[in-house]
Amino acid sequence: MLNLRSETMKKTPEKPEVKKLSAESLIERTLVLVKPDGVQRALIGRIIQRFEDAGIKIVGAKMRWIDREFAKKHYSAHVTKPMYKGLEDFIVSGPVIALVLEGVSVVETVRKIVGSTEPKSAIPGTIRGDFAQHSYSYADAKNMAIKNLIHASGNLEEAKQEIALWFSKDELHTYKTVHEIHVF
Ligand code: GDP
Ligand code: MG
Repeated sequence: MLNLRSETMKKTPEKPEVKKLSAESLIERTLVLVKPDGVQRALIGRIIQRFEDAGIKIVGAKMRWIDREFAKKHYSAHVTKPMYKGLEDFIVSGPVIALVLEGVSVVETVRKIVGSTEPKSAIPGTIRGDFAQHSYSYADAKNMAIKNLIHASGNLEEAKQEIALWFSKDELHTYKTVHEIHVF
């Protein structure tokens, strides 16, 4: 016979063990480019401000005008796509600002601050949502890349490859900011 009392006295199952990660392992680096449209529209300062405001640290920065060969390396995942010609024309059309940013889960956080690829559907408050307006159909109709101001690495693996492509080890710096006292 079922003994109700002993059934209800049974201990609730233990919470499964979740491996605790070290804080250091959650600090990432990502590559950001202010594309030629952002440089030529004089938005460099306002774009960088968005990352600095979030307490994200700049650990590498330079201006560079890349050639077509380098563009193919940077956009290797896109070279076979029909839109690639327009993308290459765009990224080599003027200098870009290349940044390496560091922070807590920064690859994902930076993509959130940047907003969706298509500015038309990027929400207000994001860089692409506030400063750009292209749609896929408009850019495709003009055979040009969507002008969306920013490149940001899509995931941690991509970030590691892109940082190694754009920066040498001695161009990346380690230093303390006030955010490390108040944010981390
Ligand atoms: P991102 O990671 O948000 O920059 O987007 P992707 O890696 O998918 O694409 C790289 C860049 O190519 C985008 O930022 C756009 O400038 C451009 N692009 C992507 N998809 C399209 C498309 O369907 N049409 C056009 N015209 N441009 C595109
Ligand atoms: Mg991408």
